[in-house]
Amino acid sequence: MDTNFTQVFKEKKLKLTPQRIAVYNYLKSTKEHPSAETIHKALMEEYPTMSLATVYKTLKVLVEVGLVQELNVGEGNFRYDGMTTSHPHIHCICCAKVDDLEGVTFEELNQTVKCNTNYDVLSNKVYFYGICPECKKSN
Ligand SMILES: [Zn+2]
Ligand SMILES: [Zn+2]
Repeated sequence: MDTNFTQVFKEKKLKLTPQRIAVYNYLKSTKEHPSAETIHKALMEEYPTMSLATVYKTLKVLVEVGLVQELNVGEGNFRYDGMTTSHPHIHCICCAKVDDLEGVTFEELNQTVKCNTNYDVLSNKVYFYGICPECKKSN
């Protein structure tokens, strides 16, 4: 468990429950950007008493304190990411898999947008949609 995690919980005066630790560690250990249902299934064996509602509540807390990133890849399809720094994602429209897009940044896009609005642009969220290599093969 990283120190940032325990520190944030201490600062926010939140209880470090086994469920919160389990959900956080699971998200840190995967690059799959799982949904709440997937997390629930994955932790069921080790935490048989943890309900899907608890997973949802736990995710809400982790997102609120900034330890986890929530991705809305469309149509209320929420996915979770243990990597909280801003990075673009690509979503497969066939199998619903979500991958990180590496080596691409959109910092320049912030500048372009800034030139076209009176806003101070702070961040952006970019999602790409496509067909992953596995789905391409099976088609
Ligand atoms: Zn796919
Ligand atoms: Zn990601």
